[in-house]
This record gives sequence, C-alpha cells and structure tokens, in this order.
Amino acid sequence: LLGYIGIDTIIEQMRKKTMKTGFDFNIMVVGHSGLGKSTLVNTLFKSQVSRKSAGWARDEKIPKTVEIKTVSHVIEEGGVKMKLTVVDTPGFGDQINNDNCWEPISKYINEQFEKFLKEEVNITRKKRIPDTRVHCCLYFIPPTGHCLRQLDTEFMRRLSHSVNIIPVIAKADTMTMEERLEFKQRVKKELETNGIEFYPQKEFDDDMEDKSDNDKIREVMPFAVVGSDKEHQVNSKRVLGRKTPWGIIEVENPNHCEFAQLRDFLIRSHLQDLKEVTHNIHYETYRAKRLNENGG
Ligand code: GDP
Ligand code: MG
Repeated sequence: LLGYIGIDTIIEQMRKKTMKTGFDFNIMVVGHSGLGKSTLVNTLFKSQVSRKSAGWARDEKIPKTVEIKTVSHVIEEGGVKMKLTVVDTPGFGDQINNDNCWEPISKYINEQFEKFLKEEVNITRKKRIPDTRVHCCLYFIPPTGHCLRQLDTEFMRRLSHSVNIIPVIAKADTMTMEERLEFKQRVKKELETNGIEFYPQKEFDDDMEDKSDNDKIREVMPFAVVGSDKEHQVNSKRVLGRKTPWGIIEVENPNHCEFAQLRDFLIRSHLQDLKEVTHNIHYETYRAKRLNENGG
C-alpha cells in the first residue's frame, strides 16, 4: 500500500451519525407482579424509567388479563441519545388460569413487526422508520428453588423465535449463594431439556471469537440479579443495595450478585447485537412469512 486512503474514517463517520440521530432501544419485562421488574429496569438505567408498583403488596390492582404498558424516555450519555422504551406486561402470571398469558405479549411483538413492515413497503418511505420492535425480553424467574413452572417454559418456548429472551433469576438476595447455584443449575438443565433457546442463541454466533465470548456468558446465565433504588453507606461510599439479615447486598458488586454482569452484557457489549438479531433474524422471519402469505 503506497499511501493512506482513509477507509478507517468510516468509524468516525458512523460515530458522528449516531451522535446526531441517536438510537432506539426497546426492552420488555415479563414475570408475575412483585418480582422486581420495575426496580431492576430502573437500576439498569439509573433512573425512574419504569413505574414501580406503589405499595405493591396491598393496594396495587392486578389487572384481570395481561396488559401491555409502554413508557418512553430519552437518556443521554456522552452526547449519545438513546430513546428507551420499557414495555411492561402487568397481569402476566397473576391469574388463576395463566394458560394463554403469552398470547397478548406475542400479539404485541408481532404488531410492532407489522408496523415496521408497513413502513418498509410504503411507496414513499420515511427516511428513518421509527423502531418499536422489542429488542430484548427480560424474563423473570421467581426465586423458588423448585422447578420451572409450565408458565415459564411455555412462554419462553413460544416466544423465543420472535424475540431475544434473556432469562434472569429474580430477587436473588432472597436465596443463599448455595441455593442460587443449585437453582441455577436446575433451571439451566430444564431450559435445555425443554429445548428453549435464549439470547445469545448458539446458532447466531458469527465466528469462533464470538462463540467463545458468548459461551462464557451462556455459562453464567440465567443471571441471578438484585435490584434496588436505595443507597447505603459501604466503606465511606454510597452504593445501591438491599439490607438483609446477612448485611448489605451491593447491587453492583460482582461478589454479591450478577447484576453488573447482566448490565455489561445487555448494554456495554451486546446492545447493538440485540438490535441486529431482532432485525436480521426475528423481523426477517416475520417478514418472510407475511410476504409469503400475500404472494401465495
Ligand atoms: P414488579 O411488580 O415486578 O415491577 O416489582 P417491583 O419492582 O414493583 O418490586 C416489588 C417489591 O419488591 C418492592 O417492594 C421492591 O422494593 C421489592 N424488590 C425489588 N427488587 C428486589 C430484589 O432484587 N430483592 C428483593 N428482596 N426485593 C426486591
Ligand atoms: Mg412493575
């Protein structure tokens, strides 16, 4: 090569574009009420992005069917704007009969695909199609220590081909370290025997490096997480944590729980990939199916 061409400036050009336009990120939370869904999302984004159930144990009204509630916020960091939409699913798993709990959620996910498809096939297309597609679904497994319930396996099995599912063990501070480990092994085994594919899916690892990075992540999944909106004083520092009979559980301390690992994975290493898998795999599957229906 004789002289510099400047191909590598593409990275700077992309950076500038992203700075200007920002990006959409849509995260859904699923699990029965009181599992700490809203708290965890607020802990992840360090702000009140999801409404916490007020006085949840007593006066919170549990809807009679599964509802879909979305709240959007613009979060900015280092000049980059993220339009975050939290999709909450109150009522899931709260009924006497939870047989078809997954249905309204599946319907919502497909409706967002349909919206995107309609915009794409328009003769006059928008310069940038607003993206409401769900990029990631955090599925909260109750910290029971028992088996997964049929509700859990049914939901994940049915939706794993239309959304990136990330299972987490909720309220991990209610279990001892040994209990967590044992429960995690059990859950892993059950996910495997039920053939449930969660994100990051093995079949979409791009290369050996990807595979080895993702293998490490899959090994620790499902993350045993703790959320909190209360600060505590630990060694002259203010940290988010929960007070337990054994002391303060620090949310971001990797020796205390796996919240930090979940955050790093979700936001710092795989956010772009979550968006790409949603577009290239899940949306593409939907699109192909729809266009086939019309053409056939
Ligand atoms: P949601 O109904 O799933 O959205 O649950 P909330 O986030 O509203 O939390 C329900 C209750 O559980 C609140 O009293 C929270 O303070 C509490 N909570 C939230 N996260 C945790 C956690 O990780 N561990 C424990 N022990 N309690 C939590
Ligand atoms: Mg909530």
